[in-house]
Amino acid sequence: MTLSITDVRAFDVRFPTSTMLDGSDAMNADPDYSAAYLRIYTSDAHLTGDSLVFTIGRGNDVQIKAIEILAARIVGLTAADAFANIGQIGRDLSSDSQLRWLGTDKGVFHMAQGAVINALWDLFSKERGIPLWKLLSDMTPEQIVSAIDFRYISDALTPEDALAILHSGEANKARHEAQLVNIGVPAYTTTPGWLGYDDEKMLRLTTEAINDGFTLVKYKCGKSITDDRRRLTKVRQLVGPDYRIAIDANQVWDVDDAIAWVNQLQEFNLTWIEEPTHPDDVVGHARIAKEVAPIQVATGEHGANRIMFKQLLQLNAISVMQIDATRVAGVNENIANILMAKKFGIPVCPHAGGIGLCEMVQHLAMWDAVAVSGHHDKRVVEYVHHLHEHFLEPAKVENGFYRAPVLPGSGAHMYDASIDHYLFPSGPYWSQHQQSGENT
Ligand SMILES: [Mg+2]
Repeated sequence: MTLSITDVRAFDVRFPTSTMLDGSDAMNADPDYSAAYLRIYTSDAHLTGDSLVFTIGRGNDVQIKAIEILAARIVGLTAADAFANIGQIGRDLSSDSQLRWLGTDKGVFHMAQGAVINALWDLFSKERGIPLWKLLSDMTPEQIVSAIDFRYISDALTPEDALAILHSGEANKARHEAQLVNIGVPAYTTTPGWLGYDDEKMLRLTTEAINDGFTLVKYKCGKSITDDRRRLTKVRQLVGPDYRIAIDANQVWDVDDAIAWVNQLQEFNLTWIEEPTHPDDVVGHARIAKEVAPIQVATGEHGANRIMFKQLLQLNAISVMQIDATRVAGVNENIANILMAKKFGIPVCPHAGGIGLCEMVQHLAMWDAVAVSGHHDKRVVEYVHHLHEHFLEPAKVENGFYRAPVLPGSGAHMYDASIDHYLFPSGPYWSQHQQSGENT
């Protein structure tokens, strides 16, 4: 029977994380981790394509609408046609000039495009009974390259470049896949580092992270230099001089402030400073990178598209590239981002956390490890210990390594009970917490 797409539906799902200060940083004081969740229904009642766009609350109001507008366009396609033409579908979704006017390959509609593309990849994987990382790893270089939109990046990565990278990885794929299945890919954690946590909780969670096998922990910073120095002094006393520590400013500084602030923290032997300034300021990142060395600059969770990543790479503005599963236009664009990073010799250390981001982005890191850049110790994938219980296959980290998912799909599939309970504003949680709901 031909599998075809019969309907689509978006769900506004919000979790009340602001009540616990989970996720608090210098820029985002009270996020309610939320999913603008998309489900594709098919002619097989048991087979859906699921994805989400991560927002931190009210953004869902507009994200849901954008997803509904774009997702309606794939109804009626067969899964086979969609798989064969996934690159063209992506290009078509980004080429509606009336919608493109609102943000050229960036923002709400670009993320909505990502929701549609990611839900299709979820469906392709489920239809074949394999996890997404495996589907991508088994595809031929030509199939992978046909999914990429090379518009605006061909000065940095051509189809021929991409094919050459993928062909050169073919010989090692089986070995890399075996290592992935046996060990996984290294994770790091941000769980101890939220700004809203007091020192006691931060240190207790740091000890737990080390005991859990993580070899890098990241701490939020940038609200007060006195607080940052106090927190990092205590962490260094606890973990010793060589344990890897990163910090994350979540965009709070201007360029000169970033340089001055980070240089006041040089004594703490930091591995990277993340999001030191506005994510679109490529030239600023390049200057920061030069002037805070040897501390490395990392960014990408707000990297709007492949064109931003191209420029960060071309200007030597980053040493660590942090792709995000739901910021850009889905798997198609992140494949391009990973291949560009490989060409420029920069490790991809995906951003995760939020709701569902660990579950989704791990597949891309695993494809990178199997088919693109192999296993290496510069790749660490972010892990935050929140909200995994809502997914059919929660991200699994053991001894500091993400273990390869085994269930079919892309990781985004959430339990119906979780969607129903946290549906905004009508689900049981929000109807019982009317006041909080109004304040989110
Ligand atoms: Mg961050």
